[in-house]
Amino acid sequence: QPEVRNLKNEMKRQLPARTYSMLDDISRTAEHAGVPVYLIGGIVRDLFLERPNEDIDIVVEGSGIDFANHLQADYGGSVKIHENFGTATWHHPSKLSIDVTSARVEYYDRPASLPDVELSTLNEDLYRRDFTINSMALCLNPDIFGDLVDPFKGQSDLRSKTIKVLHNLSFIEDPTRILRAVRFETRFNFLMDKQTESLALNSMARMKDLSAHRIVEEMKRMFKDEKPPETIRRLFELQFWQQFGADDDIREESFVHASRMDMVYDRHPHFQSNKISWFDYFVIPFYHSGKSHLAKTFALTRQNNKFLQDIRDLTEIDGWEKTEGVGDFHRFLKDFTDDAILFFISKEHFENEDIIVSYVEKRHDIPPILTGEDLIQQGLKPGRQFREILMELDVAVLNGEIKTKEAALEWLDKYR
Ligand code: ATP
Repeated sequence: QPEVRNLKNEMKRQLPARTYSMLDDISRTAEHAGVPVYLIGGIVRDLFLERPNEDIDIVVEGSGIDFANHLQADYGGSVKIHENFGTATWHHPSKLSIDVTSARVEYYDRPASLPDVELSTLNEDLYRRDFTINSMALCLNPDIFGDLVDPFKGQSDLRSKTIKVLHNLSFIEDPTRILRAVRFETRFNFLMDKQTESLALNSMARMKDLSAHRIVEEMKRMFKDEKPPETIRRLFELQFWQQFGADDDIREESFVHASRMDMVYDRHPHFQSNKISWFDYFVIPFYHSGKSHLAKTFALTRQNNKFLQDIRDLTEIDGWEKTEGVGDFHRFLKDFTDDAILFFISKEHFENEDIIVSYVEKRHDIPPILTGEDLIQQGLKPGRQFREILMELDVAVLNGEIKTKEAALEWLDKYR
């Protein structure tokens, strides 16, 4: 038997004091409740990687719901039970919340690949997880606090920076795991091992069986993580975009577009690339294939639909790219959203980039020099023309041609 590795000191050193003391509390409850309790998932992985993570997930070899109730009895707070899943969330008085799962409960159907031999309940739980690096646990019961349970050699895969599935049917059971794999690859600078990558390629066609909603959930997480351009490129290699109709040969231009979009946002303090919506990245491969409409299936909000419409219209309207004054862009662009405009000017090198960005920045606080009320007072008839006049006034203000109300009233003469 190899010696069991104990991480108690690492936990003490790396975890914030309140997280550590929470684990201590859990440990005491585990003792008197008489059940084996484990810390599990991402936080264990991140201890090895020395990356901050405070999400406490625990697994109980027994009833997770009973254990959450024990925690509440010992330390207060409240418990929310998710009956269907046999799990519970304990909301600690300090506002921290902790998910408690029963190792015995099937939160997925029993994997087809799960051997008939009886695994310990903990190992069975670990076997249902996605990758070896996410399938390690730390014992929390007092005598063995911090002992590592690593039946699938996650530790060694962490050392070799490898993402590895636990069994060959993993991606068939749940194709979203392929997207998770890519997310961990780019986030940690890891790679799938050969076998895992070839399983991913072989199972990619199954992605089409998932609901748009599930894919969108994964995409949101992927594009919130670091390095969206790399993510897009990697998904090309794995034939993800191609499943949904994007062309094979636009990998590099999609990568460049996404990188430029990041730069445009980063260069201008008004915007920030971490505010770019997942959807803006997601549309890139479809846009470059000339098939933006194919992204429509994934446009689940009005905002997403407006974005698609906007980038299509921006491609079609003529002449605006050559305009020169900040205000003159307003005539063409006033009805387009910021992110559609920034998407568009990132698609290739754009001579007018700075001036367009400056327009996008300024247009949100155009001083209201005249109102509709003013126009009426000046004897103008309310109607469709009002909108036009006020828009032209905005153009002039943005161009710096009109600064005061007097100047605006004089300018108004030509409409009377
Ligand atoms: P992150 O830092 O992005 O939150 P995480 O590993 O904590 O990473 P979660 O999505 O919070 O990711 O999942 C927690 C744990 O649940 C994972 O570490 C993994 O063991 C397991 N898990 C999550 N999703 C799946 C899945 N689709 N299939 C199998 N196991 C999963």
